[in-house]
Amino acid sequence: MFDAIGTMIETNKGHLSELDGVIGDADHGVTMDIGFSAVREALAALDASASDPTTVFNTAAKSFLNAVGASSGPLYATAFMRAGAAVKGKASLDRDAMVDAVAAMAKGIQDRGKATRGEKTMVDAWLPGAEAAEAARDAGRPLNACLAAAAAAAEEGAEATKAMMATKGRASRLGERAIGHMDPGAASAALMLKTIAETFAG
Ligand code: ADP
Ligand code: MG
Repeated sequence: MFDAIGTMIETNKGHLSELDGVIGDADHGVTMDIGFSAVREALAALDASASDPTTVFNTAAKSFLNAVGASSGPLYATAFMRAGAAVKGKASLDRDAMVDAVAAMAKGIQDRGKATRGEKTMVDAWLPGAEAAEAARDAGRPLNACLAAAAAAAEEGAEATKAMMATKGRASRLGERAIGHMDPGAASAALMLKTIAETFAG
């Protein structure tokens, strides 16, 4: 999953920095690419057969935090730490554990950044994504359907940030001038959930 996210970020690096260039400081793609390159390197050094999901998430958290100086550093580090805590003791991830992990990531980002929905941040993609995954699980849908629902809701959420004014992060300095432009963090979050869904589609 982290390998797939790393490849996806690499592919979308330019696009994400372009989005950040409009309402921020033009580094979001670079930032995320540095972070996930570090994650991939750290995970490649793990003994896969001896590592449980919690170890994988915690290793990702640590390496992302160490590599990334931008605001997304602590946000995703917290997300991965919380995901690791949510699946503690499990040798593998089934539907319920994976939906719990996604929900824990969304909650971690919210707790760390103190943004609520509608403030034009990655929360506007993560929160509807997590809620859609949980709703699909409550409806008895299988894992791939839960994650597909999360990806679709996150994409819708990222689209919706275009109409928002930012009240958190760099874009908040722009006031009404940020309206009409998608939040880069929400865009990368939607892509991440899409990649997670694709990873588990089989
Ligand atoms: P920086 O803003 O430090 O340059 P990045 O460009 O990597 O960091 O990330 C910017 C993204 O971080 C924004 O588009 C927004 O989605 C997200 N972000 C910023 N502040 C917060 C916050 N307090 N809570 C949640 N997300 C935030
Ligand atoms: Mg930036």
